[in-house]
Amino acid sequence: MTFPKAREHCGLCGVSGGESILERVHLGLHSLQHRGQEAAGIMVNVDGRCRVHKSAGLVDAVFRAIPLDWRQCRNLPRAISHVRYSTAGGSKENNAQPLMVEMAGQRVGIAHNGTLCNALSVRRKLQHEGVIFQTTTDTELILHLMARSLTKRHHGDLWEALEEALGEVRGAFSLLLMSHDYLVAVRDPFGFRPLSIGDFDDGGYMVASETIALQVAGARYLREVAPGEMVIWGPNNTMVSHRFAESPRRAHCIFEHVYFARPGSFVFGDSVYEVRKAMGRRLAREAPVDADVIVPVPDSGMYAALGYAEESGIPLDMGLTRNHYVGRTFIDPGITSRRKMVMRKLQPIVEALRGKRVCLIEDSIVRGSTSRARVQTLRDIGTKEVHMRVSCPPHRFGCFFGIDFPRREELLANKVPPDQLCRTLRLDSLVYLSQEGMLSCVKAFKPEDYCCACFDGNYPTPPELVENPTLPFFDAGGP
Ligand code: SF4
Repeated sequence: MTFPKAREHCGLCGVSGGESILERVHLGLHSLQHRGQEAAGIMVNVDGRCRVHKSAGLVDAVFRAIPLDWRQCRNLPRAISHVRYSTAGGSKENNAQPLMVEMAGQRVGIAHNGTLCNALSVRRKLQHEGVIFQTTTDTELILHLMARSLTKRHHGDLWEALEEALGEVRGAFSLLLMSHDYLVAVRDPFGFRPLSIGDFDDGGYMVASETIALQVAGARYLREVAPGEMVIWGPNNTMVSHRFAESPRRAHCIFEHVYFARPGSFVFGDSVYEVRKAMGRRLAREAPVDADVIVPVPDSGMYAALGYAEESGIPLDMGLTRNHYVGRTFIDPGITSRRKMVMRKLQPIVEALRGKRVCLIEDSIVRGSTSRARVQTLRDIGTKEVHMRVSCPPHRFGCFFGIDFPRREELLANKVPPDQLCRTLRLDSLVYLSQEGMLSCVKAFKPEDYCCACFDGNYPTPPELVENPTLPFFDAGGP
């Protein structure tokens, strides 16, 4: 099975205190569905006992099957939840999160967005010590490291054990953990993945991967969990901040702005909508085109196309329409023709495009096979010229920090020399946004506070910490 686009691994949503916790978590997690569509799960404290409900499927389907006694329970003090992808061949249900274990005489659950880039060596070390794993996720390693720390210390402070465990892992981790009395939110010292806190009028708090979840659930945005910070809500729901590690530098994933996050979210202090539009405007200045119409590739190319059209003065038209009943990563193994697959997801509107010089705005090109098929489809319907502008630089490197890119050798910009990309995709012209141009569109942090490793190969963590992510025994949620 292959996937035409890079995929986000996971989304997180947790609630502590306040009313209607199940409803709030459901609303929040549902708005994060784009971050993971293969499995969903929730952990709650029902009448004093932590329980998990999770399975393969979309959020609504998983929540429809929530046990009745959870819905009727009047004492639900906190909950954490998760949406995820898995890689091909992985056992979806087994690796679904939150993962819950018995530890120090109580149930502890964890949900993770990101990838631990030293997972392989940590797993081998633990296996050597006799640890048996229930899943193939890297997330489970944190629980085992916590348990080992508790055993060594001979006392039961879970959150000290968590801090010690976090000292042994490297890479990207936005985490939610929960026990009988606590909810804990953690962000790795680089701040690769977003994690935001909001509050409700009734004193409840929500933590979520994107601010859209807070907005949809009716919470006010308070702030982000800072890189290297652990935020703890205890039995009385007071919010306490604890710094577990100094941040060597920030490394916010710029690709959240380009592609992953929803346009209604604020990510790393900037509006995704505004950043995407700014990328389109900048692209129009860097790479003007002689065209009759600007056509976005839905959905994530939409806002860059708006910016491009505004700046260039060329009219925008919705010449491609998306079938919303086909998932973001839909691949039907029964359909072997790439062109038919592309057509099934995105259909050109002949009346809008025939005989015109069209400029497509893409958010990114990963393997290129989808783009090539799309261009051919436009030529087949009689489009006069097909140009393409891409709102980020070419992808040449893999990601070890929570995004499931194809292998480096499969990336189009690696396989084909720059001067041949346009011909390979059968385009009349092709220009990517420069890295400088992309970074000029984010305002809240300096350009050097972002990770651009999949574009320039400058990994924020030392190379010896980045292990081979293609080794077989980790599923998504791990490398
Ligand atoms: S390598 Fe690319 S996708 Fe991965 S964290 Fe860095 S910017 Fe994001």
